[in-house]
Amino acid sequence: MLNDTICAISTALKDGAISIVRMSGEDAFSVIREISDLKETVPNRIAYGHILDHDEIIDEVLISCFGKGHSYTCEDMVEINCHGGVYVTKMILNLLLQKGCRLAEPGEFTKRAYLNGRIDLSEADAINDLVKAESAIQARSAIRGLNGSIERLLTPLMDEMKDVLSMIEVNIDYPEYEDEKQMTSDVIKPYLWKWQKQAQEMIEKAERFSLVKDGIDTVIIGKPNVGKSSLTNALLGEERNIVTPVAGTTRDAISSYYNKFGHEFMIVDTAGLRKKAKVTEDLEFYSVLRSIRAIENADVCVLMIDATSGIEAQDMSIFNLIIRNKKGCVIVVNKWDLVPDKTANTMKEFKAAIAKRIAPMSDIPVIFTSATNKQRIMDVLEAAEHVYANYSRRIPTSQLNDAMLPEIENYPPPAWKGKYIKIKYITQLPTPSPSFAFFCNLPQYIRDPYKRFLENKLRSHFDFTGCTVQVYLRQK
Ligand code: GDP
Repeated sequence: MLNDTICAISTALKDGAISIVRMSGEDAFSVIREISDLKETVPNRIAYGHILDHDEIIDEVLISCFGKGHSYTCEDMVEINCHGGVYVTKMILNLLLQKGCRLAEPGEFTKRAYLNGRIDLSEADAINDLVKAESAIQARSAIRGLNGSIERLLTPLMDEMKDVLSMIEVNIDYPEYEDEKQMTSDVIKPYLWKWQKQAQEMIEKAERFSLVKDGIDTVIIGKPNVGKSSLTNALLGEERNIVTPVAGTTRDAISSYYNKFGHEFMIVDTAGLRKKAKVTEDLEFYSVLRSIRAIENADVCVLMIDATSGIEAQDMSIFNLIIRNKKGCVIVVNKWDLVPDKTANTMKEFKAAIAKRIAPMSDIPVIFTSATNKQRIMDVLEAAEHVYANYSRRIPTSQLNDAMLPEIENYPPPAWKGKYIKIKYITQLPTPSPSFAFFCNLPQYIRDPYKRFLENKLRSHFDFTGCTVQVYLRQK
């Protein structure tokens, strides 16, 4: 055995053109010289060469050598870009094992990067998430985890705490040093408030990060027979036997729960919602409750309507429920294939009709699908991800004030009985859906039209498509 030099196949797709075999450890450079025709290993260069088993050429390859300071693991590392397929790749790996390398355990390259101080634990965690990401939004979130790791956020906070602590200790241990700064409670308190705020921000960030990591809860909701199961089947890419042609016979109110592309899908039939006012049977009552609960627990609700019947009263009551619960919303008009005599304007007209029904919440994405023909089904997920990004957006106070205070100055709230109303600053509230507090001297005199103005201006500066935006006026 060499000096614990590890090796692994990093990529070897069955039909892929190129595979990568990696090696890390003190003997990586000497081993590559032994199994190739490379005369010398120059760090941080890519060299063209051949992998040899005795005199037999195994493959024509590109070999990258990374010196200690410049490699992922902080050790000498070699990457062999060989031809793809499993056979050649395995031959090369076998050669490395014969020369005394050992197979890396899962995640061992990243473990070494961590142990050698190249990355911290949260970055290692983020790398793991990135490798496993199934959707663009998960990958973006993992990248954010990599760039703004918790450790990097914590270190300055901890350093400042240590400084303050040591100044307090100096005060206690050497009371005679009168020149030293006196750490009275008036001096310490602002630090405590600042640290509390910073810690709160970190907790919020971490909570949002884990939400994306664990998947977006997407409820597909609508009347029986509108095509919810067909859409789910089409997205999952497999037949799950959950489709029946007779309305209302598919399932109970909530019966299906699937995970794909970073979404947790739940299918909810809204058969019960129609009769909510006169619910008598126990079963019906619980079905209504569970539908409401599903909406409450969702991040994004995909409301499916039937293109052949248009948006109906029952669809509207579901829509209102989604909005009342302040959830992200996407409207899917399914069975688009059944709409006869479509022209270039049909979609536009349909959209306009929906916008009229759902006004003033007209800023909701509308996607026209045919679950049967798998038409535009991925657009539904993309829209849900976009809405989720808007739903979970956190805008720093400074950015909010920079955008909104000039708007307010241009069009200030009307005075009330000669009293001048001044909005001083704006901050986003720590609620799951976007909500904003406007601090002013006389909040009780600001009327609804002005609140709508504030909401519209927020929407014009920041993307809140598919979400409700709450505006609160608070006393300052
Ligand atoms: P669910 O009750 O909302 O889950 O609806 P299903 O997915 O069970 O679909 C009910 C019926 O509508 C089935 O016969 C489906 O084949 C049919 N269906 C679903 N989506 C479409 C579509 O986009 N076009 C057409 N033509 N039929 C559809």
